[in-house]
Amino acid sequence: MSEIETLICGPCSAETEEQVFETAKALCGILRPDGKRYVSAYRAGLWKPRTHPGSFQGVGERGIPWLVRVQKELGMKVIVEVAKPAHIDAVLSAGIDMIWIGTRTTTNSFAMQDLCDVLRGVDVPVFVKNPVNPDLELWIGAIERLQRAGIKHITAVHRGFSYYEKSKYRNIPKWQVPIDLMQRMPQIPIICDPSHIAGDKAYVAEISQKAMDLGFKGLFIESHICPDKALSDAKQQLTPSELASMLDALEVRSESSESADYLAAVDHIRAHIDVIDDNILELIASRMRLVDEIGRYKKENNITVLQPRRWESVLNKAIAGAGERGLDKKFVEELFKLIHQASIDRQS
Ligand code: PEP
Ligand code: MN
Repeated sequence: MSEIETLICGPCSAETEEQVFETAKALCGILRPDGKRYVSAYRAGLWKPRTHPGSFQGVGERGIPWLVRVQKELGMKVIVEVAKPAHIDAVLSAGIDMIWIGTRTTTNSFAMQDLCDVLRGVDVPVFVKNPVNPDLELWIGAIERLQRAGIKHITAVHRGFSYYEKSKYRNIPKWQVPIDLMQRMPQIPIICDPSHIAGDKAYVAEISQKAMDLGFKGLFIESHICPDKALSDAKQQLTPSELASMLDALEVRSESSESADYLAAVDHIRAHIDVIDDNILELIASRMRLVDEIGRYKKENNITVLQPRRWESVLNKAIAGAGERGLDKKFVEELFKLIHQASIDRQS
């Protein structure tokens, strides 16, 4: 079984010295099968970015000595969210090991630049959450600002995207965005924060497994000694023992294998997939040639490009065909909508 490279856990917010210390102690007790500690660093928010002004805003600098105690007495590395230059001064002068930049801050390039200006020349690992909206460039821009400030150890944290409509999760994952980031910046490790995607502890395990399946380098999980009493994000925090069971059940996959049998089998299947992908493209090209032809007839006869009844029957047929073949109907519907849109664009 492979191991998770980075596992950062701890409460959403530092609330009291006792809550901080007891949570950290319990997290230290989670061991891997080889007997080593599983959790590689301890997270806790001191300044909380809250939606409403009346809610708990964090204990601020008052919590720094509690985290220093966790470092000294338990030998854990500690990471804190910073949103203002003054936060950086406070945590770095206390010797906090690492910092993270929250979603709302990544979204704001003025705030990002202010942070980078005070980070110039400082050797501290920085974790950057994705922006609020699924804007890959904004995420990359925040990382580039840190790189220009000379920060060497940068990790991206995927925590999902804000979405107006109701969905199962608090923030929709849109996995394609971090996958695109992996391609654009292969040198930047990406870890997943399943807690803020989930919004509910019931979903933390399935999201963590998905992240492992996709080859994320680690997890950033909220855990509280007594989630029912948490002052922020109570619903999504796991107790340390719930976290331990979840980690036990997690299948951590390796990115590659040296096994000759595995490599030969995968090569063989990939060759088939490449042929099929080529066929898909060829079929789409043939379809578009026919679309061009029908488009010419419509034009000559002064007929509208969009034929709603015909489109409805094409779509229904595709969805029924998806069902017969055990394909996801929603996926096939989206795919046909894209093909249809492109066909209409060619005729207009
Ligand atoms: C957090 O990690 O507690 C937090 C506030 O996260 P985000 O910036 O992802 O909302
Ligand atoms: Mn939180």
